[in-house]
Amino acid sequence: MSSELQTTDVAIIGAGPVGLFAIFECGMLKMRCQVIDSLAVIGGQCAALYPEKPIYDIPGYPKVMAQELIDRLAEQAAPFEPVYHLGQAVTALQPSDGGRWRLTTEKGTEIDAAAVIIAAGCGAFGPNRPPLAGIEDYEGRSVHYLVQRREDFRDKRIVIAGGGDSAVDWALSLAELAAKIYVVHRRPKFRAAPESVDQLHRLAESGKLELVIPYQLAALSGSAGQIDKVTVADLEGNEKDLPADVLLPFFGLSMNLGPIAEWGLNLDHHHITVAPSSSETNAKGIFAIGDIATYPGKLKLILSGFSEAAMAAHAIRPLVYPDEELHWEYSTTKGLPQTA
Ligand SMILES: Cc1cc2nc3c(=O)[nH]c(=O)nc-3n(C[C@H](O)[C@H](O)[C@H](O)COP(=O)(O)OP(=O)(O)OC[C@H]3O[C@@H](n4cnc5c(N)ncnc54)[C@H](O)[C@@H]3O)c2cc1C
Repeated sequence: MSSELQTTDVAIIGAGPVGLFAIFECGMLKMRCQVIDSLAVIGGQCAALYPEKPIYDIPGYPKVMAQELIDRLAEQAAPFEPVYHLGQAVTALQPSDGGRWRLTTEKGTEIDAAAVIIAAGCGAFGPNRPPLAGIEDYEGRSVHYLVQRREDFRDKRIVIAGGGDSAVDWALSLAELAAKIYVVHRRPKFRAAPESVDQLHRLAESGKLELVIPYQLAALSGSAGQIDKVTVADLEGNEKDLPADVLLPFFGLSMNLGPIAEWGLNLDHHHITVAPSSSETNAKGIFAIGDIATYPGKLKLILSGFSEAAMAAHAIRPLVYPDEELHWEYSTTKGLPQTA
């Protein structure tokens, strides 16, 4: 975290696929970017919701895993040296001097920018936390709301809590490499796809994982960020302890348009309306791209967001370089900046 005022050409709210590509497009026009995301990792929906699912409609990639797409986009943006501020939602956006804008995050980071690109998807992502005393002491070390790399869980004793698709899918996936898996759910019935639920029961019968139902999470214990057991309780309050190294609570992600709705931008059903030729909002210097932006005929696809990123970058350039005319060049002609 930094409470000191940062200055940049473009502040990008949201490090989803579209925000990441905007760094590249701005970079190609010599504009520096700082990127803020409420999640602790980059990648937006791709990383948070479906990292290991294949995407088939990215031009040039007949098939690409969502996390791989994010890794490639980050690599493509890297030569332009973006500054990332992760794990902090932007809470305020206010006019600054000379037509610039000032952003403030929930951690007190302040960024002054010539232009702002809002690439905030459906709003700030945050996990629905189980109400367990002291859980924040373990978050990021032994309590995780997202699985980024399966390998991190090899040979671990894992408690998975929840009854939906994420809980069931990750139980099936991690059962191959974990030392032990408990699946804790407060109802006997799971809400996941019936085929996956059948597979879960088959694995439980074969002893590869243990279903702890109907139970709910009651307490955690451990030290220095590392849990050693998870206590669960049934509906009568009878408790039992599950020895564990990791807790994965999957109670969904909340998405919150939150403060964005209060920034005076024209909205249409929780989306920001923009001019389709530039992605500019009704406020000069503020642009919206990707899932959060809407205009007649909008397709909520990653590839539309990429095109909107290019249009926004071109529309922003005269704000950053008011006295310089843009000489149009293809990337093949211009090449990339020299990196260290
Ligand atoms: C299961 C699934 C499968 C999909 N398959 C496809 C597919 O095959 N092809 C396709 O084109 N699309 C697909 N999509 C849709 C695609 O993922 C979205 O269109 C894409 O992620 C939109 O990218 P984005 O960058 O606009 O927003 P997002 O990916 O939603 O990222 C927005 C980011 O902004 C952050 N943010 C929001 N508000 C704030 C704030 N105030 N402060 C800080 N950070 C903030 C969020 O935390 C988030 O990380 C799929 C979606 C899902 C859920």
